[in-house]
Amino acid sequence: MEFRLIERIRERTAQARGDVRLGIGDDAAVLAVPAGQELAVAIDTLIEGVHFPRGTAPADIGWKALAVNLSDLAAMGAVPAWALLALTLPTADAEFVDGLAEGFAQLAQAHGVALVGGDTTRGPLGLSVAVHGFVPPGQALTRAGARVGDAVLVTGTLGDAAGGLRLAQGALSFDRLQPAHAFLRGRLDRPTPRVQAGLALRGYASACIDISDGLLADLGHVCAASGVGAELDADALPLSSALRASFGDALSREFALSGGDDYELCITVAAANVAAAIATLGAIGCEASCIGRIVEGSGVQVRDAEGVILAPARSGWNHFP
Ligand code: ADP
Ligand code: MG
Repeated sequence: MEFRLIERIRERTAQARGDVRLGIGDDAAVLAVPAGQELAVAIDTLIEGVHFPRGTAPADIGWKALAVNLSDLAAMGAVPAWALLALTLPTADAEFVDGLAEGFAQLAQAHGVALVGGDTTRGPLGLSVAVHGFVPPGQALTRAGARVGDAVLVTGTLGDAAGGLRLAQGALSFDRLQPAHAFLRGRLDRPTPRVQAGLALRGYASACIDISDGLLADLGHVCAASGVGAELDADALPLSSALRASFGDALSREFALSGGDDYELCITVAAANVAAAIATLGAIGCEASCIGRIVEGSGVQVRDAEGVILAPARSGWNHFP
């Protein structure tokens, strides 16, 4: 049974890569690391009811499990190469596994990522994906390089996934504003990892993180690692028209600051490089907005148009509050 499921996954995720000497099927994969490159590795786990709502389509689960990991590689400025998938299923549901493998493969193929192994066990639905990518020596983007005076940039729009989650939880009827709601739900279920943006930012970013737990929490990690503080302009937060139309300005802003699951990049850039960084991202079709600056001190503050400090309701997602 387990073997047949693994075979279904292998068939659906086939991706040729010359550096995979031995993929799925032996006791371990054997991989050729390119000479002169450093390996960037990351792993993330998705549990039903915690990281995706019960009833999420299998293909969306497969996509998202890889997407959140590619987002981590993007935040390091690494080129993705290989993935491992540890899958726990309540039953040997072939249809579910097919859907999951197809969603995974769609994103994997878009980035030339080969699934080279994994594990399949019985239990409550959940999956861990590990990814491996390459980065030239010393060029990985880290959380630790932000300097006082740097600008804070983010890619894309923020808060959409938090809006999508509220919709999935039944916050608003799914019929009203149908296209807007489908967009928000798509941002929750099928996040776009900013892989090309991460690579393009190698020459520009002083620090970089992907926004998985909410902007305040994740920029807070950059500040802590860099020994600096940050000031954000509430009015500069990039909000999609779908989010604002569905939830209004105040709630949209709160989602943008504290909602999780955006998988956009938050970058700090020396003031002199901001225009070039935004143009470089624009050239690969990635919108970016300047939302604040790095300051002396610690922690992240948000100011309104009059400069008054706002206190968001919640700083971000924490599994162990
Ligand atoms: P072992 O018992 O030696 O760990 P398994 O029976 O768990 O081997 O796995 C057999 C092969 O299938 C291995 O190459 C493993 O990496 C691969 N594999 C198992 N589960 C998955 C999965 N969910 N996705 C991809 N590869 C898998
Ligand atoms: Mg095993």
